[in-house]
Amino acid sequence: MNKDIKQWDCIVIGAGAAGLMASIELAEYGRSTLLLDSQKQVGAKILMSGGTRCNVTNRAVTEKDYCSEHPKVVRNILRFFPPEETITFFKKIDVPLIEEKKGQCYPKTQRAKTVLEGLLKKVKDVGVILKTENKVTKISKGSLGYAVYVGNTMYDSKSVIIATGGLSYPNTGSDGSGYKIAKKYAHTTVATSPALTPLRMNKNIWTSLMGVSVKTTLTLRVDGKKHLEKETDLLFTHFGVSGLGVLDLSRHWLRKRGDHAVVLNACFLKGVQEALDVFVVKYPKKNIKSFLNEYFPQRFSTAVLTYLDLESSISVLQLAKINRKKLIAFLEAYELPITGAVGYGKAEVTAGGISFKEVHSKTLESKHSPGLFFCGEILDVDGRIGGFNFQWAWASGVVAAKGVDSYVG
Ligand SMILES: Cc1cc2nc3c(=O)[nH]c(=O)nc-3n(C[C@H](O)[C@H](O)[C@H](O)COP(=O)(O)OP(=O)(O)OC[C@H]3O[C@@H](n4cnc5c(N)ncnc54)[C@H](O)[C@@H]3O)c2cc1C
Repeated sequence: MNKDIKQWDCIVIGAGAAGLMASIELAEYGRSTLLLDSQKQVGAKILMSGGTRCNVTNRAVTEKDYCSEHPKVVRNILRFFPPEETITFFKKIDVPLIEEKKGQCYPKTQRAKTVLEGLLKKVKDVGVILKTENKVTKISKGSLGYAVYVGNTMYDSKSVIIATGGLSYPNTGSDGSGYKIAKKYAHTTVATSPALTPLRMNKNIWTSLMGVSVKTTLTLRVDGKKHLEKETDLLFTHFGVSGLGVLDLSRHWLRKRGDHAVVLNACFLKGVQEALDVFVVKYPKKNIKSFLNEYFPQRFSTAVLTYLDLESSISVLQLAKINRKKLIAFLEAYELPITGAVGYGKAEVTAGGISFKEVHSKTLESKHSPGLFFCGEILDVDGRIGGFNFQWAWASGVVAAKGVDSYVG
């Protein structure tokens, strides 16, 4: 067994968004900080985020933008480090942000790489020691507080922050090992599931639509009642559907099914009846496909007519009542034949995680083991699309660091 001779105030496990922020804060408090990450290159999720532009935060953030069993704790953490603080922090590290539609903030450079480089430079400048390719395999009580093990090497520390992320995109390093480490200290996990993930559809009905995007209102019904509604561009893929609305709804679909009857309806066109009536008066000789082409891409019109078994050449005027009804029902409330989600491999975040029940709500310190803290996606919280997940990572990182500072004394 090799023993690291230095004794640390804090060891932060995981150099993702939350761990980087926590360790910067700690070093700024003057705490000796060791940041360990299993990967050779850290910050993979920052680099791939927001279509490689990194949606760093959102101008307006409340607990309502998140799902958690403990929304009040989420609210307190977010209030402690609101988006204005994030914007100021990034400005100070020479990564100015600009606000785009829906309050989404991106780096002015439009490059996620700038965000990661800014954070890593700051980590270095404030004296955090970052060790990559150091996968923490276990932690236990040590002479100073905690003994943190990376294979045969042991590091001594007064405190530990677990910032190992969830289970999504495991090839970036977040493989769920943080949950196992926490379990040793009797921490329970709210059942996890993929969130912000595309959904799979029943075999091949719509594969001809691959790449087609249609403006849609999606309604998630749970046991017959409307649960959530999203206006979105619905993107058909080779396996099912995607698009921002689908990603946002996916965690609800996944977590409600099983115990409930869950249906995802797509309304492709509101007021089809009226639209048809107007079209018939205006263009009585035009066919049904022309009607659809007024509103949708040609490939969609063709696929819909094939699916409904309607002749595309039939004129709108001659459309039999039963077929008219069929068309209206389809365009207004088609039940998407969802069979499941693509899963953690393509989920932007993980829903569920370490329960806030066993974590002090103001410091994110373990109630079971003083000196052990959590931050980031490992906790039971997941945000919707729009910069909310990073805002959680920054805010919870700052809160955990402050908690460590008070604990170390
Ligand atoms: C494709 C994609 C796009 C996204 N886009 C956005 C966006 O634009 N805006 C937004 O707000 N959110 C976005 N997100 C979500 C956001 O990236 C995450 O919420 C955020 O990165 C979580 O940060 P984290 O630090 O908690 O965890 P992670 O970023 O997952 O970091 C965890 C780190 O811990 C390390 N680690 C794990 N286990 C160990 C161990 N045992 N020992 C040592 N190290 C370990 C991992 O290597 C990793 O570096 C996106 C996610 C994905 C996948």
